[in-house]
Amino acid sequence: MKDIHVIKINIGSPTPQQTELRKESARLWNRLVKLHKYNRKRHWKWLGKFDLSTHFKGRFDLHSQSIQALCEKLSANVDTTRTNRKNGDHKARYPWRCKKNFQVCIWKQAAIKVNGNRISLSNGRGRKPLRFKLPRTMPMGKIVQAELGFRELRLTISNEIDKPSSAGLNTVAADVGIIHTAVMTDGVKSLGIVGRGMRSLTQGKNRKLAFYTQALAKCKKGSRKSRKLRIAKAKMLNRYENRTHNLLHHVANQMLDFCVGRDAGTLVVGDIANIAKGKKKKHAKRSNQENSGSPIGRLYDYLRYKGQLRGVEIVKINEAYTSQSCPLCDHRHKPSGRNYKCTNKECDFVGIRDNVGAANILNKHYNGKIVAGTLLPPNNVKYLRPVKLRQSVVDPLNKGKLLSTTHTKVTVPLGAGSKIRCDYDTGFDLETHTL
Ligand SMILES: [Zn+2]
Repeated sequence: MKDIHVIKINIGSPTPQQTELRKESARLWNRLVKLHKYNRKRHWKWLGKFDLSTHFKGRFDLHSQSIQALCEKLSANVDTTRTNRKNGDHKARYPWRCKKNFQVCIWKQAAIKVNGNRISLSNGRGRKPLRFKLPRTMPMGKIVQAELGFRELRLTISNEIDKPSSAGLNTVAADVGIIHTAVMTDGVKSLGIVGRGMRSLTQGKNRKLAFYTQALAKCKKGSRKSRKLRIAKAKMLNRYENRTHNLLHHVANQMLDFCVGRDAGTLVVGDIANIAKGKKKKHAKRSNQENSGSPIGRLYDYLRYKGQLRGVEIVKINEAYTSQSCPLCDHRHKPSGRNYKCTNKECDFVGIRDNVGAANILNKHYNGKIVAGTLLPPNNVKYLRPVKLRQSVVDPLNKGKLLSTTHTKVTVPLGAGSKIRCDYDTGFDLETHTL
C-alpha cells in the first residue's frame, strides 16, 4: 500500500530563475488551453495527453517531463470537467483561462535528484537546475513529484507500507456538524469534538473579508493602498487556511483514535455533499454562510486517507431525518436547541441532539432505515477540543484608520487571571476566542 504525503516548503521570495520557470510554464499552459479550446469549438477530436506532449515536446525551456506533466494536468482537468458535466453539473467549465502569467512548474521523479539535504530539480540539458535545501525532518519515502509555486515548493513523497489490518468488527457512526464538528457513538460510548474554535475562525475570516472587500472597493485600482490591502487580505486568508488545516487534521486524528479505541473498523458518516443543493427553502444568511464556509468536506478527505493507514473504512450514508427522528418511537420533529426532546405525548425521550443524530445514523447503517427502539444513544457524551487555539492579538478592523505603531509594551488584562501581551498600543478592544 502506498502512503502518500505532500509537504510544503517555504522558499521565500522567488529568484529570477524561479519566476522565469513559472512564466515559461504559464506560456506552455496558455498554448495548451488555446489548442484544446480550438479543437473543442470546432468539434474536432480532443487531444489526449500523448498527442499534446508529442506536439509540445522540446518547444519550451523546461525539462521534457515537466512539459509532459503539464499536458497530463490539462487532460486531467478536462476529464474531471467532463465527468462533472455528465453528472449534471452544467456550470463546470473546461479550462479556459489562456492569459495566465504564472503557472506551477512540475518535476517528475526522473528530474529530481536528492543529495543529502539538498534537492536538485533538472530543467533539461544545457539549462541550470534549480536547487533547494530540504527541511531537517522529512517523512519517510521517495520524492516522486515536486511543484514550484509562489514562495512555496510542494513535494509529493510516496512510501510503501504494509496494509494495516482492520481496527475491529465494531462500527462507529459520526454526526458531523458545526457546533460539534463531530459526535460519535458506537451505541455504548459517545465522544463529541467541539467545533466552536473552527466556527469562530470561519466567522472571523468572513468578517475580515467583508472589511477588505469594502475597503478595496473604495480604493483606486492599482494604487499603493489597494496593493497593501490585497497583500493583507491574502495573508489573512493564508493564515485562516493554515489554521483550519491544522484543526481539521487534529479532528480527524481524534475521530480515528476513538474508532480504534472502540475496535471499530468502520466509521459511518452522513453524506453532506447534497445538503446545500437539494434544499428548496433558502436559509437565513447566517446558516448559509456557515454551511458554505465550513470546510467539513475536507475533513472527509483527511478521514479517508488517515483511516486507510489505521484500518478504518469510511462509509457515507444519506443522513436525512437522522437528527429529527426520535430513536425510541420514530416520531419526527425538528429540535431547536442543543437537546432533543420528543414531542410525542406518549413518549418522554430526551437526549443530546447530535448524539441522537449519531445513534440514528448507526441505526440506519445497521437496518437500512431508522428502526425505532433498537438503538438508543448513550446518556453521556464526553467532549474534546481539537486543539487550543493560540491566543493571538486579533488585528482590529479599524475602518481605514492607521494603526499607531508606537512600541510600548502594554499588558491588557483579559478577564480573571489570564493576561496577554500586546506589542502595539492599538487603542482598540482586544478580542479573545473563548472556546
Ligand atoms: Zn419519542
